[in-house]
Amino acid sequence: MRRADIVISGGGMVGLSLGLALAQGGFRTVVADTAPFAAQLEAAFDGRVSALAYATIRMYRALGVWEAMAPNAQAIREILVTDGAPSRAASPFSLHFDAEEVGAPQLGAIVENRHIRAALFAQARAQKNLTLIAPAAVTGVTVAGGGVTATLANGETVQAALAVAADGRVSPLREAMGIKVIGWSYPQIGIVATVEHEKPHNGVAYEHFLPAGPFAILPMTGNRSSLVWTEKKELAPALLALDEARFNEELSRRFGAHLGAVKAASFDKGAHPRAGRWSYPLSFHIARDFVKARFALAGDCAHGIHPIAGQGLNLGLKDAAALAEVLLDAARLGQDIGALDVLKRYERWRRFDSVALAASTDALNRLFSNDIAPLRAIRDIGMGIVDSIGPARRFFMRHAGGDVGKLPKLMRGEAA
Ligand SMILES: Cc1cc2nc3c(=O)[nH]c(=O)nc-3n(C[C@H](O)[C@H](O)[C@H](O)COP(=O)(O)OP(=O)(O)OC[C@H]3O[C@@H](n4cnc5c(N)ncnc54)[C@H](O)[C@@H]3O)c2cc1C
Repeated sequence: MRRADIVISGGGMVGLSLGLALAQGGFRTVVADTAPFAAQLEAAFDGRVSALAYATIRMYRALGVWEAMAPNAQAIREILVTDGAPSRAASPFSLHFDAEEVGAPQLGAIVENRHIRAALFAQARAQKNLTLIAPAAVTGVTVAGGGVTATLANGETVQAALAVAADGRVSPLREAMGIKVIGWSYPQIGIVATVEHEKPHNGVAYEHFLPAGPFAILPMTGNRSSLVWTEKKELAPALLALDEARFNEELSRRFGAHLGAVKAASFDKGAHPRAGRWSYPLSFHIARDFVKARFALAGDCAHGIHPIAGQGLNLGLKDAAALAEVLLDAARLGQDIGALDVLKRYERWRRFDSVALAASTDALNRLFSNDIAPLRAIRDIGMGIVDSIGPARRFFMRHAGGDVGKLPKLMRGEAA
Protein backbone atom coordinates (compact mmCIF):
# COMPACT_ATOMS: atom_id res chain seq x y z
CA MET A 1 0.00 0.00 0.00
CA ARG A 2 1.43 3.36 -1.07
CA ARG A 3 0.29 6.64 0.41
CA ALA A 4 0.06 9.88 -1.53
CA ASP A 5 -1.94 13.10 -1.60
CA ILE A 6 -3.11 12.58 -5.20
CA VAL A 7 -3.15 9.55 -7.48
CA ILE A 8 -3.49 10.09 -11.25
CA SER A 9 -4.67 7.40 -13.65
CA GLY A 10 -2.93 8.06 -16.98
CA GLY A 11 0.54 9.43 -17.66
CA GLY A 12 -0.14 10.83 -21.13
CA MET A 13 0.81 14.44 -21.86
CA VAL A 14 -1.98 15.79 -19.63
CA GLY A 15 -1.51 13.31 -16.75
CA LEU A 16 2.26 13.83 -16.63
CA SER A 17 1.96 17.63 -16.85
CA LEU A 18 -0.59 17.59 -14.02
CA GLY A 19 1.61 15.25 -11.96
CA LEU A 20 4.54 17.64 -12.37
CA ALA A 21 2.50 20.73 -11.47
CA LEU A 22 1.13 19.06 -8.34
CA ALA A 23 4.48 17.63 -7.24
CA GLN A 24 6.25 20.96 -7.81
CA GLY A 25 3.55 22.56 -5.64
CA GLY A 26 4.47 20.14 -2.84
CA PHE A 27 1.88 17.34 -3.14
CA ARG A 28 3.01 13.71 -2.95
CA THR A 29 1.74 12.49 -6.28
CA VAL A 30 1.53 9.07 -7.96
CA VAL A 31 1.00 8.71 -11.74
CA ALA A 32 0.18 5.23 -13.07
CA ASP A 33 -0.02 4.34 -16.76
CA THR A 34 -0.95 1.19 -18.67
CA ALA A 35 1.89 1.67 -21.19
CA PRO A 36 5.57 1.55 -20.17
CA PHE A 37 6.96 5.11 -20.31
CA ALA A 38 9.93 3.97 -22.48
CA ALA A 39 7.46 2.67 -25.11
CA GLN A 40 5.66 6.05 -25.16
CA LEU A 41 8.88 7.72 -26.31
CA GLU A 42 9.38 5.50 -29.36
CA ALA A 43 8.78 7.04 -32.79
CA ALA A 44 6.18 4.39 -33.65
CA PHE A 45 4.04 5.06 -30.54
CA ASP A 46 2.44 8.32 -31.70
CA GLY A 47 3.20 9.89 -35.08
CA ARG A 48 1.53 13.16 -34.16
CA VAL A 49 2.83 16.61 -33.45
CA SER A 50 1.03 19.15 -31.29
CA ALA A 51 0.44 22.79 -32.10
CA LEU A 52 1.24 24.30 -28.71
CA ALA A 53 -0.52 27.60 -28.02
CA TYR A 54 1.58 30.41 -26.60
CA ALA A 55 -0.12 30.03 -23.19
CA THR A 56 0.93 26.37 -23.16
CA ILE A 57 4.54 27.35 -23.90
CA ARG A 58 4.43 29.71 -20.90
CA MET A 59 3.11 26.82 -18.76
CA TYR A 60 5.87 24.50 -19.96
CA ARG A 61 8.45 27.20 -19.18
CA ALA A 62 7.04 27.55 -15.67
CA LEU A 63 7.20 23.76 -15.16
CA GLY A 64 10.83 23.72 -16.36
CA VAL A 65 10.20 21.44 -19.34
CA TRP A 66 10.24 23.90 -22.24
CA GLU A 67 14.08 24.12 -22.40
CA ALA A 68 14.27 20.40 -23.21
CA MET A 69 11.61 20.69 -25.95
CA ALA A 70 12.76 23.96 -27.47
CA PRO A 71 15.49 22.52 -29.76
CA ASN A 72 12.78 20.37 -31.37
CA ALA A 73 10.15 23.11 -31.56
CA GLN A 74 9.26 24.91 -34.77
CA ALA A 75 7.83 28.41 -34.30
CA ILE A 76 4.51 29.07 -36.07
CA ARG A 77 4.89 32.53 -37.57
CA GLU A 78 1.89 32.57 -39.88
CA ILE A 79 -1.30 30.57 -40.40
CA LEU A 80 -2.97 30.49 -43.81
CA VAL A 81 -6.52 29.11 -44.08
CA THR A 82 -7.95 28.32 -47.53
CA ASP A 83 -10.99 26.56 -48.94
CA GLY A 84 -10.92 24.28 -51.97
CA ALA A 85 -10.94 20.76 -53.39
CA PRO A 86 -8.09 18.49 -54.60
CA SER A 87 -8.96 19.10 -58.24
CA ARG A 88 -9.91 22.77 -57.89
CA ALA A 89 -7.81 25.87 -57.20
CA ALA A 90 -8.19 27.29 -53.68
CA SER A 91 -10.94 29.87 -53.28
CA PRO A 92 -9.68 33.48 -53.58
CA PHE A 93 -11.01 34.12 -50.05
CA SER A 94 -8.57 33.07 -47.39
CA LEU A 95 -7.63 33.89 -43.84
CA HIS A 96 -4.14 34.98 -42.97
CA PHE A 97 -2.84 35.25 -39.41
CA ASP A 98 0.60 36.74 -38.83
CA ALA A 99 2.46 36.85 -35.48
CA GLU A 100 3.93 40.25 -36.45
CA GLU A 101 0.45 41.79 -36.43
CA VAL A 102 0.08 41.11 -32.70
CA GLY A 103 3.71 42.02 -31.99
CA ALA A 104 4.52 38.44 -30.94
CA PRO A 105 7.59 36.46 -32.01
CA GLN A 106 5.39 33.49 -32.84
CA LEU A 107 1.75 32.34 -32.73
CA GLY A 108 2.71 29.04 -31.09
CA ALA A 109 5.00 26.11 -31.78
CA ILE A 110 4.84 22.69 -33.34
CA VAL A 111 6.52 19.92 -31.33
CA GLU A 112 6.46 16.19 -32.00
CA ASN A 113 4.49 14.46 -29.26
CA ARG A 114 7.41 12.14 -28.55
CA HIS A 115 9.61 15.14 -27.72
CA ILE A 116 6.91 16.60 -25.43
CA ARG A 117 6.64 13.23 -23.68
CA ALA A 118 10.44 12.89 -23.38
CA ALA A 119 10.80 16.34 -21.76
CA LEU A 120 7.92 15.68 -19.33
CA PHE A 121 9.19 12.22 -18.47
CA ALA A 122 12.77 13.42 -17.77
CA GLN A 123 11.51 16.18 -15.46
CA ALA A 124 9.00 13.86 -13.77
CA ARG A 125 11.71 11.31 -13.01
CA ALA A 126 13.81 14.01 -11.36
CA GLN A 127 10.92 15.20 -9.16
CA LYS A 128 11.31 13.74 -5.68
CA ASN A 129 7.68 13.61 -4.54
CA LEU A 130 6.38 12.28 -7.88
CA THR A 131 6.19 8.49 -8.28
CA LEU A 132 5.71 7.01 -11.76
CA ILE A 133 4.34 3.47 -11.98
CA ALA A 134 4.14 1.77 -15.40
CA PRO A 135 3.10 -0.51 -16.88
CA ALA A 136 0.21 -0.59 -14.42
CA ALA A 137 -3.39 0.18 -15.36
CA VAL A 138 -5.60 1.65 -12.67
CA THR A 139 -8.35 -0.96 -12.45
CA GLY A 140 -10.58 0.71 -9.88
CA VAL A 141 -11.03 3.48 -7.35
CA THR A 142 -13.03 3.24 -4.15
CA VAL A 143 -14.04 6.20 -2.06
CA ALA A 144 -14.35 5.50 1.66
CA GLY A 145 -13.39 6.84 5.07
CA GLY A 146 -12.37 10.31 3.93
CA GLY A 147 -10.00 9.10 1.19
CA VAL A 148 -9.68 7.09 -2.03
CA THR A 149 -7.94 3.82 -2.75
CA ALA A 150 -6.77 3.16 -6.31
CA THR A 151 -6.13 -0.44 -7.29
CA LEU A 152 -3.49 -1.10 -9.95
CA ALA A 153 -3.27 -4.06 -12.32
CA ASN A 154 0.13 -5.01 -10.85
CA GLY A 155 -1.54 -5.68 -7.48
CA GLU A 156 -0.43 -2.44 -5.80
CA THR A 157 -2.85 -0.06 -4.11
CA VAL A 158 -2.48 3.68 -3.60
CA GLN A 159 -4.29 5.51 -0.83
CA ALA A 160 -4.80 9.24 -1.38
CA ALA A 161 -7.09 12.19 -0.67
CA LEU A 162 -8.00 12.54 -4.37
CA ALA A 163 -7.94 10.45 -7.57
CA VAL A 164 -7.75 12.08 -11.01
CA ALA A 165 -8.60 10.29 -14.27
CA ALA A 166 -6.41 11.58 -17.12
CA ASP A 167 -6.64 8.29 -18.96
CA GLY A 168 -7.89 9.48 -22.35
CA ARG A 169 -11.10 9.31 -24.36
CA VAL A 170 -12.09 5.76 -23.48
CA SER A 171 -11.93 5.78 -19.71
CA PRO A 172 -13.36 2.75 -17.95
CA LEU A 173 -12.60 4.55 -14.68
CA ARG A 174 -14.83 7.50 -15.62
CA GLU A 175 -17.59 5.03 -16.40
CA ALA A 176 -17.04 2.97 -13.23
CA MET A 177 -17.34 6.20 -11.21
CA GLY A 178 -20.75 6.78 -12.81
CA ILE A 179 -19.87 9.83 -14.92
CA LYS A 180 -21.77 9.84 -18.21
CA VAL A 181 -20.63 11.52 -21.43
CA ILE A 182 -22.48 13.14 -24.32
CA GLY A 183 -20.77 12.33 -27.60
CA TRP A 184 -20.69 10.96 -31.12
CA SER A 185 -18.23 9.67 -33.71
CA TYR A 186 -17.39 11.68 -36.82
CA PRO A 187 -17.63 9.88 -40.19
CA GLN A 188 -14.01 10.94 -40.64
CA ILE A 189 -10.58 9.64 -39.77
CA GLY A 190 -7.37 11.60 -39.18
CA ILE A 191 -4.45 10.33 -41.28
CA VAL A 192 -1.15 11.51 -39.88
CA ALA A 193 2.27 11.45 -41.58
CA THR A 194 5.49 13.42 -41.59
CA VAL A 195 6.20 14.88 -45.00
CA GLU A 196 9.57 15.99 -46.38
CA HIS A 197 9.47 18.83 -48.90
CA GLU A 198 11.82 20.54 -51.28
CA LYS A 199 11.25 24.18 -50.23
CA PRO A 200 11.33 25.73 -46.74
CA HIS A 201 7.97 26.35 -45.02
CA ASN A 202 9.18 29.57 -43.30
CA GLY A 203 7.13 28.73 -40.22
CA VAL A 204 3.79 28.90 -42.07
CA ALA A 205 1.03 26.49 -41.02
CA TYR A 206 -1.60 25.76 -43.66
CA GLU A 207 -5.18 24.67 -43.05
CA HIS A 208 -6.71 23.74 -46.37
CA PHE A 209 -10.39 22.88 -46.17
CA LEU A 210 -11.22 20.04 -48.53
CA PRO A 211 -14.69 18.47 -48.96
CA ALA A 212 -13.81 15.49 -46.71
CA GLY A 213 -12.45 17.76 -43.96
CA PRO A 214 -9.43 19.87 -43.06
CA PHE A 215 -6.03 19.08 -44.54
CA ALA A 216 -3.51 20.66 -42.17
CA ILE A 217 0.18 21.11 -42.98
CA LEU A 218 2.04 21.94 -39.79
CA PRO A 219 5.65 23.16 -40.02
CA MET A 220 8.24 21.02 -38.24
CA THR A 221 11.98 21.61 -37.78
CA GLY A 222 13.90 21.36 -41.07
CA ASN A 223 12.17 21.00 -44.43
CA ARG A 224 9.50 18.82 -42.86
CA SER A 225 5.82 19.24 -42.10
CA SER A 226 3.32 17.14 -40.24
CA LEU A 227 0.18 16.31 -42.08
CA VAL A 228 -3.20 15.90 -40.42
CA TRP A 229 -5.40 14.75 -43.26
CA THR A 230 -9.07 14.36 -42.38
CA GLU A 231 -10.65 11.89 -44.75
CA LYS A 232 -13.95 10.02 -45.09
CA LYS A 233 -13.80 6.96 -42.83
CA GLU A 234 -14.60 4.54 -45.65
CA LEU A 235 -11.75 5.81 -47.87
CA ALA A 236 -9.07 5.68 -45.19
CA PRO A 237 -8.13 1.95 -45.35
CA ALA A 238 -7.42 2.17 -49.10
CA LEU A 239 -5.38 5.38 -48.70
CA LEU A 240 -3.38 3.92 -45.83
CA ALA A 241 -2.63 0.80 -47.88
CA LEU A 242 -1.34 2.66 -50.98
CA ASP A 243 2.25 2.01 -51.99
CA GLU A 244 4.75 4.84 -51.45
CA ALA A 245 4.54 6.29 -54.96
CA ARG A 246 0.72 6.40 -55.05
CA PHE A 247 0.51 7.78 -51.51
CA ASN A 248 2.94 10.57 -52.46
CA GLU A 249 0.85 11.31 -55.57
CA GLU A 250 -2.29 11.69 -53.44
CA LEU A 251 -0.35 13.96 -51.08
CA SER A 252 0.95 16.15 -53.90
CA ARG A 253 -2.55 16.60 -55.36
CA ARG A 254 -3.74 18.01 -52.05
CA PHE A 255 -0.61 19.93 -51.04
CA GLY A 256 -0.39 22.12 -54.11
CA ALA A 257 2.98 23.33 -55.42
CA HIS A 258 4.06 25.90 -52.80
CA LEU A 259 6.47 23.54 -50.98
CA GLY A 260 7.91 21.92 -54.12
CA ALA A 261 8.12 18.14 -54.38
CA VAL A 262 6.70 16.36 -51.32
CA LYS A 263 7.05 12.81 -50.02
CA ALA A 264 5.96 11.04 -46.87
CA ALA A 265 8.83 10.18 -44.53
CA SER A 266 9.06 6.76 -42.98
CA PHE A 267 10.11 6.94 -39.30
CA ASP A 268 12.50 4.07 -39.98
CA LYS A 269 13.95 3.94 -43.48
CA GLY A 270 14.56 0.22 -43.10
CA ALA A 271 10.99 -0.45 -42.06
CA HIS A 272 7.93 -1.12 -44.16
CA PRO A 273 7.29 1.79 -46.58
CA ARG A 274 3.85 2.33 -45.03
CA ALA A 275 5.32 2.44 -41.52
CA GLY A 276 5.25 6.23 -41.28
CA ARG A 277 1.44 6.55 -41.51
CA TRP A 278 -0.92 6.66 -38.58
CA SER A 279 -4.67 6.98 -38.38
CA TYR A 280 -6.89 8.22 -35.56
CA PRO A 281 -10.66 7.78 -35.37
CA LEU A 282 -12.27 11.17 -34.68
CA SER A 283 -14.99 11.67 -32.12
CA PHE A 284 -16.59 14.26 -29.88
CA HIS A 285 -17.50 13.90 -26.23
CA ILE A 286 -17.94 15.96 -23.15
CA ALA A 287 -18.39 14.56 -19.65
CA ARG A 288 -21.60 15.58 -17.89
CA ASP A 289 -19.61 16.16 -14.70
CA PHE A 290 -15.90 16.88 -14.35
CA VAL A 291 -15.83 15.99 -10.62
CA LYS A 292 -17.36 13.88 -7.87
CA ALA A 293 -16.29 13.77 -4.24
CA ARG A 294 -12.60 12.77 -4.25
CA PHE A 295 -12.55 12.28 -8.00
CA ALA A 296 -11.82 14.60 -10.95
CA LEU A 297 -11.41 14.27 -14.73
CA ALA A 298 -8.81 16.07 -16.86
CA GLY A 299 -7.78 16.19 -20.52
CA ASP A 300 -9.34 13.95 -23.15
CA CYS A 301 -11.03 11.97 -20.39
CA ALA A 302 -13.20 15.05 -19.71
CA HIS A 303 -13.61 16.23 -23.33
CA GLY A 304 -12.64 14.92 -26.75
CA ILE A 305 -12.77 17.44 -29.59
CA HIS A 306 -12.17 17.45 -33.35
CA PRO A 307 -8.52 18.26 -34.20
CA ILE A 308 -9.67 20.92 -36.71
CA ALA A 309 -8.21 23.73 -34.60
CA GLY A 310 -5.35 21.76 -32.97
CA GLN A 311 -6.62 22.62 -29.48
CA GLY A 312 -7.31 19.29 -27.67
CA LEU A 313 -4.02 19.12 -25.80
CA ASN A 314 -4.00 22.86 -25.06
CA LEU A 315 -7.47 22.49 -23.55
CA GLY A 316 -6.38 19.49 -21.45
CA LEU A 317 -3.31 21.33 -20.20
CA LYS A 318 -5.53 24.23 -19.13
CA ASP A 319 -7.45 21.67 -17.02
CA ALA A 320 -4.17 20.50 -15.50
CA ALA A 321 -3.05 24.06 -14.70
CA ALA A 322 -6.45 25.05 -13.27
CA LEU A 323 -6.81 21.88 -11.17
CA ALA A 324 -3.30 22.28 -9.73
CA GLU A 325 -4.07 25.92 -8.84
CA VAL A 326 -7.41 25.11 -7.18
CA LEU A 327 -5.86 22.26 -5.13
CA LEU A 328 -2.84 24.31 -4.06
CA ASP A 329 -5.07 27.24 -3.02
CA ALA A 330 -7.27 24.83 -1.02
CA ALA A 331 -4.25 23.24 0.69
CA ARG A 332 -2.88 26.70 1.60
CA LEU A 333 -6.22 27.45 3.29
CA GLY A 334 -6.13 24.11 5.12
CA GLN A 335 -9.10 22.73 3.17
CA ASP A 336 -9.61 19.07 2.22
CA ILE A 337 -8.41 18.76 -1.42
CA GLY A 338 -10.83 15.89 -2.09
CA ALA A 339 -13.92 17.78 -0.84
CA LEU A 340 -16.66 18.24 -3.42
CA ASP A 341 -16.94 22.01 -2.90
CA VAL A 342 -13.22 22.42 -3.59
CA LEU A 343 -13.41 20.28 -6.74
CA LYS A 344 -16.53 22.13 -7.92
CA ARG A 345 -14.39 25.30 -8.18
CA TYR A 346 -12.30 23.47 -10.78
CA GLU A 347 -15.41 22.24 -12.59
CA ARG A 348 -16.95 25.72 -12.73
CA TRP A 349 -13.68 27.12 -14.07
CA ARG A 350 -13.13 24.53 -16.78
CA ARG A 351 -16.47 23.13 -17.91
CA PHE A 352 -17.85 26.20 -19.67
CA ASP A 353 -14.59 26.85 -21.57
CA SER A 354 -14.43 23.17 -22.63
CA VAL A 355 -18.05 23.07 -23.81
CA ALA A 356 -17.60 26.34 -25.75
CA LEU A 357 -14.45 25.16 -27.55
CA ALA A 358 -15.84 21.66 -28.19
CA ALA A 359 -19.03 23.12 -29.67
CA SER A 360 -17.20 25.61 -31.88
CA THR A 361 -14.78 23.00 -33.27
CA ASP A 362 -17.77 20.74 -33.99
CA ALA A 363 -19.58 23.59 -35.79
CA LEU A 364 -16.46 24.51 -37.80
CA ASN A 365 -16.05 20.90 -38.90
CA ARG A 366 -19.70 20.72 -40.01
CA LEU A 367 -19.48 24.03 -41.88
CA PHE A 368 -16.25 23.21 -43.72
CA SER A 369 -16.27 19.43 -44.30
CA ASN A 370 -18.53 19.40 -47.35
CA ASP A 371 -18.73 20.66 -50.91
CA ILE A 372 -22.25 22.11 -50.78
CA ALA A 373 -22.20 25.27 -52.95
CA PRO A 374 -24.33 27.60 -50.73
CA LEU A 375 -22.32 26.62 -47.63
CA ARG A 376 -19.10 27.09 -49.55
CA ALA A 377 -20.23 30.61 -50.48
CA ILE A 378 -21.15 31.45 -46.86
CA ARG A 379 -17.85 30.25 -45.43
CA ASP A 380 -15.78 31.93 -48.16
CA ILE A 381 -17.56 35.25 -47.57
CA GLY A 382 -17.10 34.74 -43.81
CA MET A 383 -13.37 34.16 -44.26
CA GLY A 384 -13.10 37.22 -46.50
CA ILE A 385 -14.86 39.39 -43.90
CA VAL A 386 -12.74 38.19 -40.96
CA ASP A 387 -9.58 38.60 -43.02
CA SER A 388 -10.40 42.20 -43.87
CA ILE A 389 -11.18 43.28 -40.28
CA GLY A 390 -8.09 43.72 -38.08
CA PRO A 391 -9.82 43.30 -34.67
CA ALA A 392 -11.56 40.11 -35.88
CA ARG A 393 -8.23 38.66 -37.06
CA ARG A 394 -6.58 39.56 -33.76
CA PHE A 395 -9.51 37.98 -31.84
CA PHE A 396 -8.89 34.66 -33.63
CA MET A 397 -5.13 34.95 -33.05
CA ARG A 398 -5.66 35.45 -29.31
CA HIS A 399 -7.82 32.28 -29.31
CA ALA A 400 -5.19 30.31 -31.22
CA GLY A 401 -2.59 31.49 -28.70
CA GLY A 402 -4.77 30.34 -25.80
CA ASP A 403 -4.94 33.83 -24.25
CA VAL A 404 -8.68 33.81 -23.59
CA GLY A 405 -10.86 33.44 -20.52
CA LYS A 406 -9.49 33.23 -17.00
CA LEU A 407 -5.96 31.91 -17.46
CA PRO A 408 -4.49 29.72 -14.71
CA LYS A 409 -1.27 31.07 -13.18
CA LEU A 410 0.88 28.43 -14.89
CA MET A 411 -0.43 29.60 -18.27
CA ARG A 412 0.55 33.15 -17.32
CA GLY A 413 4.05 31.81 -16.72
CA GLU A 414 3.84 31.89 -12.90
CA ALA A 415 4.14 29.07 -10.35
CA ALA A 416 0.76 27.53 -9.47
C1 LIG B 1 -4.94 13.61 -35.42
C2 LIG B 1 -4.89 14.43 -34.16
C3 LIG B 1 -4.14 15.62 -34.12
C4 LIG B 1 -4.10 16.40 -32.98
N1 LIG B 1 -3.39 17.57 -32.99
C5 LIG B 1 -3.40 18.37 -31.89
C6 LIG B 1 -2.69 19.63 -31.88
O1 LIG B 1 -2.06 20.04 -32.86
N2 LIG B 1 -2.75 20.40 -30.75
C7 LIG B 1 -3.46 20.01 -29.66
O2 LIG B 1 -3.52 20.78 -28.66
N3 LIG B 1 -4.12 18.82 -29.64
C8 LIG B 1 -4.11 17.99 -30.71
N4 LIG B 1 -4.77 16.80 -30.69
C9 LIG B 1 -5.44 16.36 -29.44
C10 LIG B 1 -4.43 15.76 -28.46
O3 LIG B 1 -3.64 14.79 -29.10
C11 LIG B 1 -5.15 15.14 -27.26
O4 LIG B 1 -6.06 16.09 -26.76
C12 LIG B 1 -4.14 14.77 -26.17
O5 LIG B 1 -3.27 13.77 -26.63
C13 LIG B 1 -4.87 14.27 -24.92
O6 LIG B 1 -3.93 13.91 -23.96
P1 LIG B 1 -4.39 13.09 -22.66
O7 LIG B 1 -3.14 12.94 -21.83
O8 LIG B 1 -5.60 13.72 -22.06
O9 LIG B 1 -4.89 11.69 -23.21
P2 LIG B 1 -4.06 10.50 -23.91
O10 LIG B 1 -3.00 11.06 -24.78
O11 LIG B 1 -5.07 9.61 -24.52
O12 LIG B 1 -3.34 9.76 -22.69
C14 LIG B 1 -4.05 8.92 -21.84
C15 LIG B 1 -3.03 8.04 -21.10
O13 LIG B 1 -3.76 7.23 -20.16
C16 LIG B 1 -3.23 5.91 -20.20
N5 LIG B 1 -4.30 5.01 -19.71
C17 LIG B 1 -5.42 4.59 -20.35
N6 LIG B 1 -6.15 3.80 -19.53
C18 LIG B 1 -5.48 3.73 -18.35
C19 LIG B 1 -5.72 3.07 -17.12
N7 LIG B 1 -6.82 2.32 -16.91
N8 LIG B 1 -4.81 3.20 -16.14
C20 LIG B 1 -3.69 3.95 -16.30
N9 LIG B 1 -3.41 4.60 -17.46
C21 LIG B 1 -4.30 4.49 -18.47
C22 LIG B 1 -2.82 5.71 -21.65
O14 LIG B 1 -1.84 4.69 -21.76
C23 LIG B 1 -2.28 7.08 -22.02
O15 LIG B 1 -0.90 7.20 -21.75
C24 LIG B 1 -4.81 15.99 -31.82
C25 LIG B 1 -5.56 14.80 -31.85
C26 LIG B 1 -5.60 14.03 -33.00
C27 LIG B 1 -6.42 12.76 -33.00
